[in-house]
Amino acid sequence: MLKNYSISNIRYIASDKIESGSISIKGNFIENFNISKHDYKLENALVIPAFINAHDHLFGTYFPKIGHGPYERWLEWDNDLKKDDVYKERSKLDKETVYLLGAYRNFISGVLTVSDHIPHKVNDDIIDIMPIRVLKDYSLAHEAVSYDLNWGDGLDIEHQRALENNIPFITHIAEGYDEESLQSLNNLIEAKALSDNTVLIHGIALSDQDLENIAKAKANLVWCPNSNYFMFERTSNIKKWMENGINVSLGTDSPATGSQTFIDEMYFTQDYYKRLYNEYLPERTLYNMVTENPAKCLRLYTLGKIKDKNIADLLILKDKNKDPYKTISTLTLNDIEAIIQNGLFVYSNEKYSEMVYQSNENVYVFNVKGEKRYCAYDIKGLMGKIRNILGYIKEFPFLPID
Ligand SMILES: [Zn+2]
Repeated sequence: MLKNYSISNIRYIASDKIESGSISIKGNFIENFNISKHDYKLENALVIPAFINAHDHLFGTYFPKIGHGPYERWLEWDNDLKKDDVYKERSKLDKETVYLLGAYRNFISGVLTVSDHIPHKVNDDIIDIMPIRVLKDYSLAHEAVSYDLNWGDGLDIEHQRALENNIPFITHIAEGYDEESLQSLNNLIEAKALSDNTVLIHGIALSDQDLENIAKAKANLVWCPNSNYFMFERTSNIKKWMENGINVSLGTDSPATGSQTFIDEMYFTQDYYKRLYNEYLPERTLYNMVTENPAKCLRLYTLGKIKDKNIADLLILKDKNKDPYKTISTLTLNDIEAIIQNGLFVYSNEKYSEMVYQSNENVYVFNVKGEKRYCAYDIKGLMGKIRNILGYIKEFPFLPID
């Protein structure tokens, strides 16, 4: 079992600069930056922290998208969702199957940690058997409007729980622009539920005053641009969020409304930003939104950065540009040449397959967009299971494997 080793001949993104050299891994963690006895010399490799998807609903993973927007508020979308034949078909699958589908959708894009926004009673029994890290420690609400889905024990109690346990308090906010959405941040403030533990999702209708209040409280925001565009044909003033110094992370939302893959969301983010402001989103900003910033808002202190003693969740990418941030902003599924998860090689192309075989008892081989991949997880097996349940071959664009 490949447990104590180094990878060398690499470039990597350390906290604030680009380094060349090696990373040494011991057990689940980055140990130091020396070359160890068991060294693997990589080839043309850029190593970065694995991505963190700051907002998803894994139980909503399916295809195609559902909705007949643009809507004024999310409630009408939710009503459409529950009447839709696609939703009915998804309901034929058991919970574990849908969750695995969602986990693999994230995994092949290099996401090893996801925040699954749902009451604990739904995901508690499933988190530990997931192939990626699903956030376990959080308190929550659904929204801060009268017609929300009533998740959790109320804004004040849930937020208090977050403070006491040093965990994030996660809620949708202003997902829409009806009267109540416009008021939703004030409801949160009244409940004393706005602090640096607070993670706000969407924020479409937030006013300038709201943004100031969020910045002052050091609360966090998560942007799901494709989902916003699909449901409302508009989004929040993301540039202003950043100008206010708010910690902003990227989330996909479920593929019922958001991008198919996390990498697709990264492309959409850049395109949409360009359309909104007629300027480019800085590539470094995008990088922060998918690594350091979500680690910070979700209070995952040993993730999101390559540094000593952090968890070794790493992506080995084709080092295709002089500027590593450009490589990340133009990433494709096939540029991910290997994935190290908790210190173990769990996924690779042909070049690094030996490491996957050395690290795992079972290795599954399949193609991703026509290129061979070796993987510790039986993604194709899951597709077979879904085919058996549905009685036909269902294609999921977020899992382009065969
Ligand atoms: Zn959501």
